[in-house]
Parts: sequence; C-alpha cells; structure tokens
Amino acid sequence: MNKQINSIRGMHDYFSEDLDIWHKLEKKFKQVLNSYSFEEIRLPILEKTEIFQRAIGNVTDIIEKEMYSFYDKKGNSLTLRPEGTVGCVRAIIQNNLLHKKKLKFWYLGPMFRYERPQKGRYRQFYQLGAEIFGLSSIDIDLEVILLTNRLWKILGINCYLTLEINSIGLQLDRIKYQKELVLFLEKHKSFLDEESKRRLYSNPFRILDSKNLNIQNILKKAPLLNNFINEKSLNRFDNLCHMMNLYSIEYKYNPNLIRGLDYYNDTVFEWKSDLIGAQNTICAGGRYNSLVQELGGIKKSAIGFAIGIERLILLIKSLNIFSKKIEKINIYIIFIGEENKIHAINLSEEIRDIYPKLKIFVSFSNCSLVKKIKHAVESLSRIAILIGPNEIEKKYYLTKELETKKEFYLFKSELMLKINSIFSK
Ligand code: ATP
Ligand code: MG
Repeated sequence: MNKQINSIRGMHDYFSEDLDIWHKLEKKFKQVLNSYSFEEIRLPILEKTEIFQRAIGNVTDIIEKEMYSFYDKKGNSLTLRPEGTVGCVRAIIQNNLLHKKKLKFWYLGPMFRYERPQKGRYRQFYQLGAEIFGLSSIDIDLEVILLTNRLWKILGINCYLTLEINSIGLQLDRIKYQKELVLFLEKHKSFLDEESKRRLYSNPFRILDSKNLNIQNILKKAPLLNNFINEKSLNRFDNLCHMMNLYSIEYKYNPNLIRGLDYYNDTVFEWKSDLIGAQNTICAGGRYNSLVQELGGIKKSAIGFAIGIERLILLIKSLNIFSKKIEKINIYIIFIGEENKIHAINLSEEIRDIYPKLKIFVSFSNCSLVKKIKHAVESLSRIAILIGPNEIEKKYYLTKELETKKEFYLFKSELMLKINSIFSK
C-alpha cells in the first residue's frame, strides 16, 4: 500500500458535526451584524508581505515568526494573511471608499499563522472580523462592545464569557512605559524564562501576557502602563467605563492587557472564557486610529475586533448547546432488485423537483435490506420508501415512518401529499 499523505500540522478538515454549529453561528453573526448595519467584504487570502510588515510591527510575534511567506514565480514576496484587518484597510483605500459616510465591514475566513499547534491554537484557523472606519468617539467603542455582548447573548453563552478591557494610550506613552518596564524586568532577569528573556528587548509587552506563575508574581510589582498614559486618553477611557456601567455591561479592567499587534491605540479589549483551556481569548479587538494613514490613506480613525471561530466552537461544544441532532437525511429510498433502480432514481428526482429543500438519499449499495433500514434509522430519516417488484406492479410505494414504525401503501400523488404533511410542520 502507498504511504498515506496527511494534512499540514495545525491545519484541519472540518466535518458536518462542526459545520452544523458553524452554520448556525454564521446565521446568528450575520443577523446581529446586519442589525448594526455592517456590510460583508471578501478579501484575498494572499497579500504582499510588505503590507503586514508595515502595519503589524516588525517586532511582533506575527512578523517575527508566524507568517507563511513565500516568493511567487516573479520573485515577489507574498504572505498568507495572518489576520484580516490589514487587508480590509488596504481594500478600502485601494477602492476609494474612504470618503463614504458609512464604513462598517465584516468578513469571515481562514487566517494562517505558523504557531505551535495545541488546543485552541492552529496554523489555519477562522476569524470573523468586523471593522468600523471614520469615527473616533467613544460611542463607537461602546457600540462595538454592545455588539459583541449581544452576540454572546443570542448564542446563549454570555454568562461564560468575561470582558477584559484596558486603554493603551498613544504610541508615545507606550514608548515611555516600555523603557521603565524593561528597566524593571532587567532587575528580575534571573526569574524570567527563556521566552521572556528573548522578548525582553524585542517585545517586552508580551511578557505581561506570560502564563508563568513566577513571572506573574514579579509583574505584580511592575510599573503600570496606566501611569504613563496621556490625560486625554485616560479621560476617554473613564468615559467609556462610565458608559459601560450605564448599559450594565460587566467588565474587568486589566491594566496588563496590551495586545500583540502594534497598530492599536486607546481602547483594547478581549472576551475570555475559563471553559476552553489555556488559549482562552475568544474575541479580541481595539482601536487603530493611525493604520489607515500608515497604509497610504488619509487620516481615518478605526476600531475592530476578531472572533476565533474554532475557540468559540470549543466553548459551544463544552456547553452542549446547539446539540440537537439534525436529520442528515430526510427521505431514504431503497429499491429491491437492480431492475427497480431506475424507478428509485425517477422518484427521487420528482421529489427533489417538488420539495427542493429536502435531503433525499437513494441507497445504491448492495448490502441487505435489513442493513439499509438500519442505516435509514441511524441517519434520523423520517421516512423510508421501499420500491420492489410488488410495488411497481401495483403502482404504489411502501412508505415507512421510521420513528412511529407505521407503514403505508401510497400511490405517488398520496406519497407527495404525505411528504408535504410530514415536512411542512
Ligand atoms: P493569542 O494571544 O491567543 O495568540 P492574538 O493576540 O495573537 O491571540 P488576535 O490576532 O487578536 O490574537 O486574533 C483574534 C482572535 O483570533 C484570538 O482571540 C483567537 O480567538 C483567534 N486566534 C488567534 N490566533 C489563533 C490561532 N493560532 N488558532 C486559533 N485561533 C486563533
Ligand atoms: Mg498570537
């Protein structure tokens, strides 16, 4: 036998048990995003490498080690998108949309990062992203929080998610803070693990995210970004917190929440869940008021968020919601004797013409009648139709209701009415 070839590590196939949840999620996402007047945008999966380098920041994890980059036949460096915001910003600049009054977009699709695969962390994963351009007031920050909060409510998972929020001020504030943080961490260098030592001079903010308990302990005495943030940003954040209180949004102020991407300013937030293991952030977002300009557009403030679909599905599965079994097949057609196959095919086509939404399965396998009925029952089909020589001769169909085990001999017109009465309920 030839050696089997498997998929790339960290890249998975998805089957209907996940996709059923996936489709329900998508439906609810669209419903909520629509109600906040977002429009869909579909973006290429490949972009020029330089756009991510310019936007995300050279010392971030994504740029340093997570990008899938390669050269095309002309020697251009291309990258499989690690996230969606950058492509979305490029698209609105390139398509001259910046003058529009309403710029609210959402997208759903695969992202690629060369990370160490583990539960909740994959090399190909899906994100639902949403971006709003053009408004810098905190009303929009609040609207984004309200929107995500509404999503969790509609999915019935709001009590399993916690909102953590912070303000990271402006870049200048963070430069000052970084100096102080590095000075502090240098004093405790012997307690840092290898990863944190590596990050000390490249990306010290990521050390604040460390799961290492020793480091978390040291960090309790570390200087806080909050003390380096300009007055205007601080006021802005206070107002946002006040408004969240008014709208009864529960949140946890997390002064160490800084996010891994360079383009954020002011508001950053994450929705986390304790029920999905160490990779516990399901949704992350924030403001990025300088990215549009950075990528060649005019000055335009922006805010957005992204939801990791696989992590959301992990949560939904752990809670067993959406678990109602769905019929993989509605009508199961069995013919007895090869000569009756044509009648089975004809009948299935006629039913599809009249009832295009039904899932009809004609059993072509040559296993026994008993096995076929067993399969029909396992597939949760509501009815099985049997076509043998007797049925053809008398021009009726033996129809079994699989749940009630009732049997009927029905002429074709009666069968069609029966199907209507069963499936229109
Ligand atoms: P993390 O700290 O978990 O690496 P991040 O800061 O890199 O997250 P973002 O770039 O903000 O994540 O992405 C938004 C969301 O996309 C995350 O909160 C998570 O739900 C999901 N996500 C990010 N990376 C992965 C991955 N490798 N596999 C699965 N989901 C991911
Ligand atoms: Mg990451």
